[in-house]
Amino acid sequence: MKTLPLLARLWENARVDGCPVGRYGSRNLEERANFLRTTQELRDARQLAPGVSLLAYPPPYRCWLTLSNDPDNTTLAGWQELHRVIWQELALPFADSFFLFAYNDAIPDQVCVAAHPEILDAHPHDTMHTWGDYTMSESRLFSRREAQAGLDLLRQLGARPRIWTDHSDFIGNMLHRNTKGALPCIEDASGQVYDNCVYSLDLVRQAGVRYLWEGSNLTTVIGQDRPLGRGEWYRNQHGDGAKGRLLAWADRLGRPLLRRLQSPLLSFEEGINRQLYADTLADGQRFHIFRRYTHWPLADIDGFGEVIAPSMVERLIAQRGTAVIYTHLGKQRAGRRPDEDHIPPSTRRSLDHLAARHGDGSVHISATSKLLDYLVLRDAACFDDGVLDFRADGVRFERLTAADLAGHSFGLRSNESRPPTVRCEGTEVAVEWTEMAAGVWCSSFEEDYHV
Ligand SMILES: [Zn+2]
Repeated sequence: MKTLPLLARLWENARVDGCPVGRYGSRNLEERANFLRTTQELRDARQLAPGVSLLAYPPPYRCWLTLSNDPDNTTLAGWQELHRVIWQELALPFADSFFLFAYNDAIPDQVCVAAHPEILDAHPHDTMHTWGDYTMSESRLFSRREAQAGLDLLRQLGARPRIWTDHSDFIGNMLHRNTKGALPCIEDASGQVYDNCVYSLDLVRQAGVRYLWEGSNLTTVIGQDRPLGRGEWYRNQHGDGAKGRLLAWADRLGRPLLRRLQSPLLSFEEGINRQLYADTLADGQRFHIFRRYTHWPLADIDGFGEVIAPSMVERLIAQRGTAVIYTHLGKQRAGRRPDEDHIPPSTRRSLDHLAARHGDGSVHISATSKLLDYLVLRDAACFDDGVLDFRADGVRFERLTAADLAGHSFGLRSNESRPPTVRCEGTEVAVEWTEMAAGVWCSSFEEDYHV
């Protein structure tokens, strides 16, 4: 019973705080208020009016961490161990991703939905890792026909993923290494135009996807969705030495001139640390593009323990930002002994620490799609004359109804005596406000808050 030591630790932590033990998602707002030590820990994301601001994340959480796992190399045995530890023993409310089909001859035993549809019911999945693994396959070529079969399978299973992540050098990728999947037509040097047989972005939208991974780079900055200056950006890129400081100063003082020279050294730009942004792709469709955090050599189950090490999590809490953790939970570092557990002890220790910080109300954990939806809703909300009005952003939500707010929770700092009325596209919706501390309110759109 590996769960007992962890439960004992969680109990101990909760007792220290004088609060009942339990998973955070099962607590109501009054119980969550017990975890709020000081309202200064909470970051204001948007000032709505004098003395009224939306908090970055629902209190008492100070930061928000999600998992963006690519299923490469995941065997059924590995999947079962990950499911048992992450989703059953630790009960972390992450969502997972999936391959619909697996035709990779180099990794013949990868788990996929077509062969194991039961994985979709075992724990939440919000991400399709393209239409399947067609890389390194001698037997199966990807084409739009394969994508249509994938869409049919999703519909048959009632699955509606919100997120698409590109895979390796898959020919149907949208943004990573190539953009062929997003191009309806291809034009040659003579100007001849051909239908692109690997175009599928229209089918991706039909599958339910509204968020695409940025694809070009991974961020190594701890904490997105927070202010980030030139100094920190260049220190992160080039270290604490003279080069980082010099570039920060050069950027600050000589930017107009150096911009004209298009120096690749000056990589800082406003908004570079946003968690997501809306963009128009080659076929004219608009999606939200989101960033993922890691260091490339650490993107496996062994490196995962370093990526979410206690030191990183504590910095994320201090920075009060978001982190969408990029990894391959099913992939082991080369050279591992075959008799070892799939999850190495160091990664297990990091997961235990993360679970404890989630349990004490410091780190919000959810599906990545839930975090991205929250940010879209938070940043499109309007405020006027004591009314907080949630609006459709036109990309994720073409129309917004009260049902879209269900399960979300928003924090408000206000010096007013009462919290605002809430509307959704101008129509008043039922909301329950709980005063978590003096001047800090938290909304709930359902009786029981679910993460
Ligand atoms: Zn992949």
